[in-house]
Formats: sequence, C-alpha cells, structure tokens
Amino acid sequence: MEFQLTEEQEFFRQTVADAVDRIIMPKVEDIDEHPDDFPWDVWNEFTSLGYLGLRYPEDVGGMDVDTVTAQLFYQELARASCGFAMAVTMNMLMGTYFLHRFGNEDIINRLMIPAIQGKKIGVICFTEDQSGTDVGATRTSATKVDGGWVINGTKNWITNGPICDFCTVICQTDPSKGARGLDFFLIEKGFEGFSHGQILHKLGAQGPITGELIFDNVFVPEDHFLGDEVGRGAQHLTDILNEVRCMTASQAIGITVTALKDALEYARARKAFGRTIGEYQLIREKFARIAAHLEAAKLMVFRTAWMIDEEKAGRGPNPREEAFLTKWFACEMCMTAVDEVMRIYGGNGFAREYGPQRYFRDARFLLYGGGTQEIIRDFIGGQMVKGKWQPRL
Ligand SMILES: Cc1cc2nc3c(=O)[nH]c(=O)nc-3n(C[C@H](O)[C@H](O)[C@H](O)COP(=O)(O)OP(=O)(O)OC[C@H]3O[C@@H](n4cnc5c(N)ncnc54)[C@H](O)[C@@H]3O)c2cc1C
Repeated sequence: MEFQLTEEQEFFRQTVADAVDRIIMPKVEDIDEHPDDFPWDVWNEFTSLGYLGLRYPEDVGGMDVDTVTAQLFYQELARASCGFAMAVTMNMLMGTYFLHRFGNEDIINRLMIPAIQGKKIGVICFTEDQSGTDVGATRTSATKVDGGWVINGTKNWITNGPICDFCTVICQTDPSKGARGLDFFLIEKGFEGFSHGQILHKLGAQGPITGELIFDNVFVPEDHFLGDEVGRGAQHLTDILNEVRCMTASQAIGITVTALKDALEYARARKAFGRTIGEYQLIREKFARIAAHLEAAKLMVFRTAWMIDEEKAGRGPNPREEAFLTKWFACEMCMTAVDEVMRIYGGNGFAREYGPQRYFRDARFLLYGGGTQEIIRDFIGGQMVKGKWQPRL
C-alpha cells in the first residue's frame, strides 16, 4: 500500500496550482458576480495550456494521465472556482467522451480535438422536464429514417448548452424498452431545427451558462449515432460514471480546502471577548472535525481513482459502489464543512463580500451532479440488502 504521490504527480499538482493561481484566482469573484457572461478570457488562457486533454491519449493531443493524477487537477481547479471547474470538466469528460469513443475521423478532427483545445464547447444532454434521475423516462426521441435519424425533444439544465458548438444527446430509440431503449446522438450547432431556449439562473457554480436546448425534427446523419449497436446507450454511460463521480468528489475537496484555509485565517484574526476566536474550543472543534472528514474524503477519492485504473488495466473489479460512496461522502463532507465555515465567520459568513457564502452556494451543486445524494444511498443500501455488495475488512 502506497500513500505517497510520485514526484511526477507532485510536480503536476504544483504546475496546475500555479496556473490556477495565476489565471483563475484573480477572476473568481468577477465570474461569480456575472452569471450571464461566460468568462471567455479566463477560458481561452487556461484551456490553451492543454489540460482539457488530460484523460485522452496522445494521438488526439491528450496527456493520457492516470485517474489518480486527474484528481489532482480537478481538486486544484475547484479550489479556485467550482463553476469554472464545471465548465472545464464538462468539456473534457462527458462533453467529448462519446465522440472520442464512437466518432469517426471527421468527428474527432473537426469537433473532439478542438474541444479539448478549448476552441469548441461540447455538452452532454440528459435532463428533461420530466426526467432527471429517472433517465429511463427520457422522452426526446430518435427515429430511424433513410441515411440517419430524426431527433425531437427538449433538454433542460444543460451546462454551457446556450453557447455550445455541439452536444451529445441521450434519446429514446425504442420507447417500449425504457432505459434499455436509449442511445446517444451527436447534434451540431447549425443543424436545422436545433436551437436553445430559456437560460436558467443558478444559485451558484457560476461560470458556465446553463439552459434549455430544443430539437425540432433535427436530422442527423448515420455517423452521428454515438454507439456500437442500437439500445446500448445506458450501458456505455455506465462506463464513464465512476470517473464522473470521483471527479465530483474531488471538486468537493477543492472547495473544502479553500473554505478551511479562509476560516483559519479568519479565526486567527477575529477577536471576541479579548481573544481571537481561534482560541475558543468550540471553534477549534469545528476545525478538527472538518479536517478529519476532509482527510477521509481524500483517501476515498484516491482509492476509488486507483481502483478505476486497476479495473481499466484488467486487474480489479468495477468500483461502482466505491465511486458512489466516495461521491456521496465527499459532497456531504463539503456541505457540512462550508456550513461550519459560515458559522465561524459569524455575520460576515452571510455577506456577499466574503468567500463562505460562495462556497456554500457552489457546494450545493455537487449534491446533484453525478447522481443525487438520495439515489446513491438508495442504490448502495439496496445492493447491501440484496447481498450484492458490502464493505470488506
Ligand atoms: C448546476 C447544474 C448543472 C447541471 N448540468 C447538467 C447538464 O449539463 N446536463 C444534464 O443533462 N443535466 C444537468 N443537470 C441536471 C442534473 O443532472 C439533474 O438535476 C439531476 O440528474 C437530478 O434530476 P432532477 O433535478 O430532475 O431531480 P429528480 O430526478 O426529479 O429528483 C427530485 C428529488 O427526488 C429524489 N429522487 C428521485 N428518484 C428517487 C428514488 N428512486 N429514490 C429516492 N429519491 C429519489 C432525488 O434525489 C431528488 O431529491 C444539472 C443540474 C444542475 C443543478
């Protein structure tokens, strides 16, 4: 068992941290205060460094790093801005994954590679008015026609939807089969019948523009079907979800680290009853509790990331339950930690002029991404009761 990062990983983390401090940190408040403006200047400068290709092979211009190393990147990014991290990770994971896996050469060269260079924006579309957690209830349909498919439906809550260049859309190809009748399709900006609707105004995680996408009889050619055979979309989706959940947990860690750092500085400076508040046991106890949970979440993240790589290398089982639990625990940990940090700040915790209210608003987003906290516990508990999984010694 090895708990130490390698020299390369430490170097990588430091390099990312420097870029984050230089490019993103100075703009964090600006990004939060202008939710309707995509931060193109920060985006262009940061994405030019090539990190969006982190998890793709070198033949498409990627860095091909392992899943553990990728967590360092996600954590560093969220340490600055959860919203900007969301914009970046959407492009580099779900927004491009299906294109890389199933796209032909033209799709890879024209869309996927420019997206991981930050020159195009790719998004993922699942959520609809009547289907979120329950993906099987998807109503957006794909109907087979001569030479391709026709897509009809409306997707909601799409991160960067209103500014995207292309989107990967989950559709029903056989409504009688529910989740077994789902497939992914690529739809490009400019395709007839494709438009964006209402823009949503979010509580936090500012940076990406979020909104509705409308598909009105959109014809897509055959090569825009992103799969191997019809009806296997849900199966393909599960192949990336462990990584998405681990990434979400890493974002929770990034937010918590910054909130904790700020709160420590505040507790050292703020005085009450003639002493700094950091001298009071009830305040110190909060720090100890946050630190313990943060350390536990970090260990879970790195172990799950390591298990994901072991599975990919054919040496280990699918860490589905571990990824679920990691996401759940880290996000609850973050929510509780930022709540405590707001209390440490007293009334200033409630002021827009200080950081904690932003961490609190950002942390709430993590409760939904990668599966809601409720569905995770329901699934894990169910697996345990059915005797399909349990923690081992
Ligand atoms: C900031 C942000 C960005 C997003 N970006 C995207 C995006 O880019 N693309 C995209 O497709 N979607 C996106 N979403 C949508 C997100 O994926 C959904 O919000 C999420 O899947 C939950 O679906 P829902 O909101 O419809 O909630 P619902 O599924 O309606 O759930 C409502 C409540 O019921 C609970 N619930 C549902 N089923 C069960 C069950 N079986 N047992 C117990 N409890 C249950 C849920 O946990 C939740 O508490 C985004 C959301 C947010 C907030």
